[in-house]
Amino acid sequence: RKWGWSLAGELRQAAARDPDRTAIVDEQGGELTYQELLDRSERLARSMRAGLGVQAGDRVGVLCRNHHGLIEAVVAAMLLGADAVLVNTGLSAAQLATVADEQSLRVLVHDTEFAERILGLPADVHRIDERVQADLIAGALPGELQPPERDGRTIVLTSGTTGAPKGARRPTPNGFGPLVSIIDRIPLHARDRMMIAAPLFHTWGYAALQVAFALRATIVLHRRFDPAATQTALVAQQCDALFAVPVMLQRLLEVPPPNPRPPLKVVAVSGSALPGGLAPRFMDVYGDVLYNLYGSTEVSWASIAGPADLREAPTTAGRPPHGTRLEILDEADEPVRDGRVGRIFVGNEMLFDGYTSGARRETHDGLLDTGDLGRINPDGLLFVDGRADDMIISGGENVFPSEVEDLLSRLPQVREAAVIGVPDPEYGQRLAAFLALHAGETLDPEAVREYVRHYLARFSVPRDVIFVKYLPRNATGKVLSRELRRYYG
Ligand code: ATP
Repeated sequence: RKWGWSLAGELRQAAARDPDRTAIVDEQGGELTYQELLDRSERLARSMRAGLGVQAGDRVGVLCRNHHGLIEAVVAAMLLGADAVLVNTGLSAAQLATVADEQSLRVLVHDTEFAERILGLPADVHRIDERVQADLIAGALPGELQPPERDGRTIVLTSGTTGAPKGARRPTPNGFGPLVSIIDRIPLHARDRMMIAAPLFHTWGYAALQVAFALRATIVLHRRFDPAATQTALVAQQCDALFAVPVMLQRLLEVPPPNPRPPLKVVAVSGSALPGGLAPRFMDVYGDVLYNLYGSTEVSWASIAGPADLREAPTTAGRPPHGTRLEILDEADEPVRDGRVGRIFVGNEMLFDGYTSGARRETHDGLLDTGDLGRINPDGLLFVDGRADDMIISGGENVFPSEVEDLLSRLPQVREAAVIGVPDPEYGQRLAAFLALHAGETLDPEAVREYVRHYLARFSVPRDVIFVKYLPRNATGKVLSRELRRYYG
């Protein structure tokens, strides 16, 4: 048997070709070369096999922030033919217990800070905290690892913004396809220096990691995102690229502008919609370097907008990359060609392999329903209007929260805005806007309604305007509308 293609395979290749190249730099300036990263992962794998009996087909959970320990755990699992289950660090104690049970975890590698949150896990799950992980690496017995009888896979959990977290099997990467589709449109190069701020446990951060390994990049990782520390690191580490989620760009703009400007050539975001107005504001400070990727755990990335697209249309998700088919279908599953809104369907070789629960989303002629609504303008640019499930029907009229949110976030007093539909005896649903204002600012609810009335139809005007300190968000920066609904009991 040969070694299959996986993150572990990618790391083995990188270490073989470029052993002394720095793979990881952390916030303390600690560095690991590709060879060291591989050695540590192999030692962890040998210890997990010898000490805990981990073998091919087992599931190893990984509950870590962004640091080398997460990568070592994932690679170690794969070297043994086990599946690595990437667990969202935002899950509650109860959700973690459910995930451990549903995913039949044999081992959970976790950051020490989560020790309390995992107390309720089934007793037969071996826990490996950071100290134990270090001991396992240091104390590994010598030996060679042979290719396992099956290739280890990655399972990414959906974040559960719309329900319980589901395990989605990543496809076995098919050669260079995914990489080509991204560097076809984004100017990333071999040996670039990249900061990955998006969480590595999420599809987007994990995809960035795969791309970075394939390019033998130097990867800068901070456990937690901090805008000032990020700016400093981008300059100090001379980063060519930053991978982030949109809310991080918002936070970067809230701290004093970097001086000197980081030498970034690429800032790539994905995971949630770019709020209206953010792209030009960001590019005015950081340069025309922004790339917006639309995608999901199920389809990886499906379309990419570059700086020129975003200058022209600040909320566009751009066009599908090489090797991806994207269609807007109407209710009769017919392709929409005239710019109307419909459901977004995507086909590419990065489609997920099904949920671990066995359920697989149905494909239509090889295309997967993303669950999102969107439209394509005459220039071929895609606009994502949001989840079909989030669409508000007020008095029989359809309203997309994103449209109203974009408008509200352009008010100078508004730091961030979210809109949801709430039950209404008269209209079925009415709009409720949650606004977090910049420090020291105030707004009159009636003035907010008046402003929206000026630009949008009457049914798009939020009848409820609620001021909050901050919006509840998941670990990938997506607003948790479920939490907002709690306001209504
Ligand atoms: P769950 O499926 O459990 O709710 P989640 O929403 O966090 O979890 P993801 O797969 O990360 O899971 O979310 C993908 C969704 O995020 C897409 O279907 C789309 O609605 C939205 N999204 C991602 N990137 C973009 C983008 N660039 N522009 C607009 N929307 C985006």
